[in-house]
Amino acid sequence: MLAANPKMRCVVCYARISFDGRAKDAHGIEDQHRELGEKANGFEWLVVYRYTDNDKSASKEEVVRDDFEQMLTDLTAGRTPEGYPIHGVMAINDDRLYRRPGDWERYLRAFTAHPDRVYYDSNGHQDLYAEGFEVKGLVGVAMSLAETRKKQRRSRTSHRNRAIRGQSVSAWRPFGWDDDKVSLRPAEADAIRKAVKDVLAGASLSEVTAQWKEAGFTTSRGNAFQYATVKQVLLNARLCGYREIVGELVRDEDGQPVVGEWEAIVTPKEWFAVVATIRERGRGKGQSPGGVVHKYLLTGVLRCGAVREDGTACNNKMTGVKANDWVSYSHGYLCKKTVDGGCNKTYKRGDETDKHVSTLVRAKLKRDAAAAAKDVPEWTRDEELESAVARRRALEQRWQTGQIDDETFFRNLSPMDQLVKELRADQAKHLAMVAAAEAATADIDTEWEAKTLTQKREMIQNALLAVIAEPGGKGRKPFDVTQLRPVWRSASA
Ligand SMILES: [Zn+2]
Repeated sequence: MLAANPKMRCVVCYARISFDGRAKDAHGIEDQHRELGEKANGFEWLVVYRYTDNDKSASKEEVVRDDFEQMLTDLTAGRTPEGYPIHGVMAINDDRLYRRPGDWERYLRAFTAHPDRVYYDSNGHQDLYAEGFEVKGLVGVAMSLAETRKKQRRSRTSHRNRAIRGQSVSAWRPFGWDDDKVSLRPAEADAIRKAVKDVLAGASLSEVTAQWKEAGFTTSRGNAFQYATVKQVLLNARLCGYREIVGELVRDEDGQPVVGEWEAIVTPKEWFAVVATIRERGRGKGQSPGGVVHKYLLTGVLRCGAVREDGTACNNKMTGVKANDWVSYSHGYLCKKTVDGGCNKTYKRGDETDKHVSTLVRAKLKRDAAAAAKDVPEWTRDEELESAVARRRALEQRWQTGQIDDETFFRNLSPMDQLVKELRADQAKHLAMVAAAEAATADIDTEWEAKTLTQKREMIQNALLAVIAEPGGKGRKPFDVTQLRPVWRSASA
């Protein structure tokens, strides 16, 4: 059955938790076995048995390690209790195996009772048949050269294990959370929540950065926020309570994201959406267009609707101007000077014009958002995903119970993993779409007020090609909204 892959080996794993002086490593057994299992997969070794001694110190003479003894018996016999051949042994550290010289010698004797076995621990693959390993047994504990190094290694690997369990691994307090890394710092958490909403609604990361700086926030290391650090904060799955390692969500055995022990700031849906938005923009046009900072909402949007004496429309862009001191509003819009090609006649008071055009655009945004929310189709691949996960599990079970051989198992595992991964990516993309649609229907009026002038201008220009401002005629007349004619962008534009 193993002939198909010459590299294939049936190995046993040994894990032990000791309480001899170290801070106790609860969960340690589970972690040791998981790490070994991952390594074994990488080597295309099959873990056929797991020996576990818990809460025992191998260095105490009086302690009998049941599974250790069992393993020695099995190694000598060459088979696991279920009858699998034993081609090798894996342990996190060799000191998990021995604490007393006697243990190591007995282990070595049992191990070498059969030829060609493999042994792996954190020092790597080792040839236990080579001379010198007996010596290690004799003076091993004393020279345990590695003791300090091993402790460091343990702390490194425990980093990943903590992550898988959903515990915080960051050395620094993450922005948004308190020193305990679990509870929130309300002001920072609010800022993050607002930033997520703003970005979903079209704000740029630069704008968020500026807002955070202005509000006096610094990174948890006390540095001023920059574009990159803000982006880092928003892209971290921690925001929605999910744990990630180097940019990949950590998932449990059932494939669900591991939820951390800390409080979440946004929902997973919102987080998926903001990540999708930021990534999408990164691929797209990049920075917001132009460096011109406009002082008035409708400069360049309003066009003069006056008809000249020769019958042609003026149609020049109107510019924002400061209003005269004696009027109650601060600015107005005026057609260009005649030297610039305008008629310089049409004038609209700024406050009312801004208000009216904003109202029109908001109304359109609401209609569009409602339509968009309706347009997001259901994600129809739930069953496909469930079935893929179930099939993968069934495959594992059939392999574990010996119904299929190893070669068949690994040949089928890889495409199944790939399919599950693809379906999950598709699901995440869909979630992002739904969230974006929902975010868009959320209180548009309130959000509008919170936007910067740049954001509002962008949204207006996305909705409108122009607003034609017809002249009000001679004399002072009340503001008349019917003289403002919006020219909408077509739906397809
Ligand atoms: Zn004009």
